[in-house]
Amino acid sequence: MSENRISFATGVEASEAVLPLRPAYWSYSSLQEMEACPRRWMLSRAEYPELWGKRGYPRLPVAAALFGDVVHAVLETIVKRLVAARCTSLRTAEAVQVLRDLGGITAVVETAMRNLLAMLEGNPRLDDDRMKRLSVELRDRVPHARAQVQAYLSRTALPATPHATGPQADSRTSVRGPGRRPAVLGTHPEIPLVAETLRLMGRVDLLTVTQDRVDITDYKTGAEDPSHLDQLRLYALLWDLDRIANHERRPATELTAAYSSREITIPAPGDSQLRDLEENVRQRIAAAETELVASVPRALPSKQKCALCQVRHLCNAYWEQAPEAHTLSRGTWFDYQGVVGPQNGAHSWWLLSERTGQKTILLRAAATMRALLPSRRIRVLNLRLDDDPEVEAIVATLTAASEVFVLTDSKG
Ligand code: SF4
Repeated sequence: MSENRISFATGVEASEAVLPLRPAYWSYSSLQEMEACPRRWMLSRAEYPELWGKRGYPRLPVAAALFGDVVHAVLETIVKRLVAARCTSLRTAEAVQVLRDLGGITAVVETAMRNLLAMLEGNPRLDDDRMKRLSVELRDRVPHARAQVQAYLSRTALPATPHATGPQADSRTSVRGPGRRPAVLGTHPEIPLVAETLRLMGRVDLLTVTQDRVDITDYKTGAEDPSHLDQLRLYALLWDLDRIANHERRPATELTAAYSSREITIPAPGDSQLRDLEENVRQRIAAAETELVASVPRALPSKQKCALCQVRHLCNAYWEQAPEAHTLSRGTWFDYQGVVGPQNGAHSWWLLSERTGQKTILLRAAATMRALLPSRRIRVLNLRLDDDPEVEAIVATLTAASEVFVLTDSKG
């Protein structure tokens, strides 16, 4: 490990974080995430050598997010093949042949799902049961994914590439690799754009360049959000500043956020708007980089952000504000930090308040759960608050969605 890396004790067993260094390039989403909460940005991208060998804290995947990744991957595969075959729309005979060669949209969806699930192997937050459930949930969504891909493709125009044999911008190249090329006339799926002067990069879903237009399209699988248009404006800035892809310095014409049910198209920003945006991004990157030197990453807790935070169990700032169980109503999902007390039954334990040592919650678990060790301080994510008229205490259930983390004595 490099000497310059800062270690951060999260207070959770096997989760000492080696904080990330300054990124070579920022992207729209990495800047946004840093601004939302520097601690989340740092902990999500840190290394955890005691936990696993990959970079970043393992995410707990949810089927809805994976579904979006699948649709994206399928669109990428199919659009690239359509472009390579010089198809201008899905309705041409050539396009029908391309889909036939791929085995049909359903086959591409199934392959993308398999690939995505394979990439999750080795994730310490995913046991066999969770993996099986995810796999079933995704399989159930195959027809929906197929319908979404068809909807996107039916509205995608692919201008023919006149220089089919000439040098093309290549989506497979790394932003720093030597293989980046000018985006010539035609359609460029998944093209990386780089503004070296800002150290900013992005990967555009679809760039179409014709004699008189340059259009940028981004496929969005979630709900409409104004931030999607901000992201497109940033792509227009990247196109403007990319001296390789846009070597002729052509202005972008229109920007489109493509949703499954409709498209929103806006004019690309003009030159003065682009210069304002460039200055704004420069300042945002400078501010983001001041956060990187902190040995204790700054936390910006808020109810909405923390509820969805994938590293909240590593964040003391979150637990200092977590609501007390007695203030919640039956059926609520909540997180709890406490001390494991005496075992109550074969699969139930008392949890004690850290402050008073009193029994606060009767925790019930499935028979398959490993026993909790007495006196250990634990953080439990996604407990369900239940009610049992025969028990004069708060009853909470560890479900398939719950996770238990054991604390060390370290403080973050
Ligand atoms: S739990 Fe909240 S404050 Fe802590 S890292 Fe996550 S978003 Fe930031």
